[in-house]
Amino acid sequence: MNANNSAPVCRAADGALSVRDVTKIYDPEGVHVVALEHCSLEIAAGEFVAVVGPSGCGKSTLLNIMAGFDYVTHGEILLDGAPLATPDTRPRPGSDRVVVFQQGALFPWKTVLENVTYGPVVQKQLDQSAAETKAREMLARVGLSNIEKSYPGQLSSGMQRRVEIIRALINDPKVLLLDEPFRAMDTVTKSASHEYLLELYNATGKTIFFITHDLEEAIFLADKVAVMTTRPGHIKLAISVDLPRPRNYRMLASQEFLRLKSQLVEAVHEEAVKAFQAGEREMA
Ligand code: ADP
Repeated sequence: MNANNSAPVCRAADGALSVRDVTKIYDPEGVHVVALEHCSLEIAAGEFVAVVGPSGCGKSTLLNIMAGFDYVTHGEILLDGAPLATPDTRPRPGSDRVVVFQQGALFPWKTVLENVTYGPVVQKQLDQSAAETKAREMLARVGLSNIEKSYPGQLSSGMQRRVEIIRALINDPKVLLLDEPFRAMDTVTKSASHEYLLELYNATGKTIFFITHDLEEAIFLADKVAVMTTRPGHIKLAISVDLPRPRNYRMLASQEFLRLKSQLVEAVHEEAVKAFQAGEREMA
């Protein structure tokens, strides 16, 4: 990587999310799944928040609502103080919030450069030549200049995910929503991906909402790790990560890292046991 990874993060001035007492019920008249209940979380502008919790506790539900893909049943979510999701607001995806999922979403028939420039050109945010200049600058930042003419099928999963994150950031969103983007990766690819994501975070200071199952990943990347309860999900605990930035892998063995990890293991394990028991009750 050729960017200055030792520069302090310059956090964006906007992109604050306020999740206030949110309840989400899927199909209230039918199956009636209460996915979220009394869920509240404050995310400051430019803050990197990781969310962990048992499968099915409502993490993706919360992300999808933030993305504007679904309604809340009660409560509200504000973006920089303005209503983003309320029971009366029509869900509205927008270029101010971009999602990167675990499953890739690059156009297989377009090159990397074409993939990255597609959004801002189609949305008329940039003309083709300005989009290409910006795309090249961002690709260079994460060491991908040499693949701008490659097609997604020619790239490793780690490279594809890096391209997707750049494609998301080139639109200059306020918030980056990441739903387990590195889940299926092997350890080496995953740790390289962490470095690239932190590199881009250091450079842009965007607000990041990051879902993961991996507690070490959560601590290593985030400013704050929020633990969700078993379904119906709410935030049970939000732990500040006071490790300095830039982060590096030596920190994984630090006292502070291990202290945070044991606190999180305890909190998540308790919820996993509850989820397991609830599953057994549902099956009985
Ligand atoms: P997580 O991301 O934490 O694994 P999800 O947000 O995907 O959890 O799901 C929370 C709960 O809501 C789960 O019980 C899931 O089965 C349920 N759920 C998710 N989407 C729907 C839907 N469209 N209709 C009904 N139930 C759903």
